[in-house]
Amino acid sequence: MLDLVLPRRCLVCGEGGGQLCAGCRAALPRVVPPLCERCGAPTAWPVRRCRECSGRRLGFDQARAAVAYDGAVRRLVAAWKEHGLRRLAEDAADLVAERVPVPNADVVAFVPGDRARSSDRGHHPAQRLAEALAERWGMPCEPLLVRARPARRQAGLPLAERRRNVTGAFAVRTSPPESIVLVDDVYTTGSTVSAAASAFRSAGAGRVDVVTFARTIRFFEAT
Ligand SMILES: [Zn+2]
Ligand SMILES: [Zn+2]
Repeated sequence: MLDLVLPRRCLVCGEGGGQLCAGCRAALPRVVPPLCERCGAPTAWPVRRCRECSGRRLGFDQARAAVAYDGAVRRLVAAWKEHGLRRLAEDAADLVAERVPVPNADVVAFVPGDRARSSDRGHHPAQRLAEALAERWGMPCEPLLVRARPARRQAGLPLAERRRNVTGAFAVRTSPPESIVLVDDVYTTGSTVSAAASAFRSAGAGRVDVVTFARTIRFFEAT
């Protein structure tokens, strides 16, 4: 509905041409290889673990993202969270499908929204993205995860606190299939998807891969 009432101007440059104009879409900073095999961070050459993720206990097997979480992408994601903008979920899914190979998994799941923050507005970007990706990948999308308890906002918390904040935050609804693709909108430190993946593993899943639209890039230099 909001799509109809909001002016059809590009959320990045403010010009016409839809919510994401062709020029800005082409200019979005793609995450390109070589990557850390585990967490998907861009690295100088392919590595199994990188500076960002080595020594960390991560609940997922592999994480991949389409674009870097920089200025333009931040603006898109903020508008996406704030207004829903269903069309943006489709754009985001197209960008992910361009960059991330089709995962070999049984089901697409997503990080559930915090009821207090997102669901009351009737939309949840991670779910919309998961549904759009499941369609492109020809896989079922299922709401397998729930929030076991409300979490404080992750934004602004230091890494150790982020981990504490989300540990035990998720519960699995039903016995999960063997392999799962877990979708979220943004990968910041990986703490949230790691906790969600751990919940799946504890419930018996064999493999959990993470796919996000955007990813924070910490180190561009060699690792
Ligand atoms: Zn634009
Ligand atoms: Zn890594």
